[in-house]
Amino acid sequence: MSAWKRVKIAIVRRKLLSNKIPEDSENPLEEWMALKAKETLKKSPELQKAIGRKKLDTVGPEEFREYQLFRVREQMRYVQENSIFYKDRFREAGVSPDDIRSYEDLVRIPMTTPDEMAVEPNHFLCVSMTKTERAFTTTGTSGVRKRVFYTREDLLAKIDIISSALMNVGMKKGDVLHIMFPTVGAWDPSLMLAGACMVAGYGSSNSASVDISEQMQTITENNSTYIIGLPSFIYRVTVLAGERVDLKSLGIKKGICAAEPLSEAMRGILEEAWGCPVLDVWGMTEFGLACAIECDERDGLHTDEANMLFEVIDPETGEHVPDGEKGELVVTSLNAEATPLIRYRTRDISFLYPPECDCGTRFNRRIGKPGGRLDLMTKIGLGQKVYPLLFDEALLQFPEVVSYQLTIDREGYKDVLTFCVETERPDEDLRQRLVDALTSIAEIEQGIDEELLEPPRIEFRDAGTKDYASKAKVIVDRRKHYD
Ligand SMILES: [Zn+2]
Repeated sequence: MSAWKRVKIAIVRRKLLSNKIPEDSENPLEEWMALKAKETLKKSPELQKAIGRKKLDTVGPEEFREYQLFRVREQMRYVQENSIFYKDRFREAGVSPDDIRSYEDLVRIPMTTPDEMAVEPNHFLCVSMTKTERAFTTTGTSGVRKRVFYTREDLLAKIDIISSALMNVGMKKGDVLHIMFPTVGAWDPSLMLAGACMVAGYGSSNSASVDISEQMQTITENNSTYIIGLPSFIYRVTVLAGERVDLKSLGIKKGICAAEPLSEAMRGILEEAWGCPVLDVWGMTEFGLACAIECDERDGLHTDEANMLFEVIDPETGEHVPDGEKGELVVTSLNAEATPLIRYRTRDISFLYPPECDCGTRFNRRIGKPGGRLDLMTKIGLGQKVYPLLFDEALLQFPEVVSYQLTIDREGYKDVLTFCVETERPDEDLRQRLVDALTSIAEIEQGIDEELLEPPRIEFRDAGTKDYASKAKVIVDRRKHYD
């Protein structure tokens, strides 16, 4: 590493709060959020007034909520000033930043939809294009492509949260993170992850190869101790490795699955194969990687509430739903510079937990694992809603299954579900077990009972012959004019 690069890293390190978290901290992520709130409090008379104090030793739920509401007001003032979209939006709605004093007040702010963002991404941009360091184009699962911009400050903030999250997962100096993302899509999480490791003082290794010997070689050569990647990709590598390779012997301490929903069936197989716990991360390009991550309790995902405010609403009425009740996740950025989003509808279905977690956090809230995505959902039979995670749970409990793709057709008045299953061991016994597992899904069972659905059909494809398909393309709906 050049001397100049070392100096640059040292400067970045000094700026980041993640480097101020004590190494023996029990909840590094929450500690980092408390540091962020304290730092903001020091500089802001408005927040000091809202909290009634100028300095805090410990941050509790009330103080942290005040920090978030203050940041919502600040972010609103900022976008009102700098974004064409929000200037008009707030004026039309007759809402001003000072109206927002409680969580309940948030519903007064109109929501932003992914479609609005896709139409005119530049209307969301709050800085001149020359100040943006990177632009990401989202993968566009629903055919809607969105562009999100990041300034240097935005990227540093992301690196800061990723380092704290890695610390929360248990990484310490000397650990090496092995990064496993296939080279698909226009955005590359590997760069951000490698950057976060460098700043935090961890090593990193990287391989996008589906070839297991290549993966193993990279892991061994770098003495990697943690892995992170796309679950369907890690799963594919794992299953193709099969019994030929003892993945446990690599001594990986923990696996982290990011950027796609992780089914429990898949988690079970990965944990068994690698001999370590596997944790789930939730993120979306609009807000960057690592928006929420599981702790060792594996009961909900701790959210990055220093940079984002989470709400759960009824997608039909737009009203808040009570804690524990499912609805659509709505997210407001609190510290974004390039493209801040206010009350952005994520289309993801989730719910909010009450703040306390058995891992010992005091205020940091968790969300339920976002499962069904509204825009990946499709209806079968008499309107039963189905989505990829549902089939993952049924099909990926069998280690023989490498991947699958579902095609939905219509024959007469009945829907036909054909699962093209990639496996090394296609036989009638497996076929029967797959059909049984699928027909035990309530939504499918109901459809068959109502005679609006044919029993599921299975086609086999040899392992390795099917191209890698990300979760977004797992369901192909060939029915015409069907809602
Ligand atoms: Zn926890």
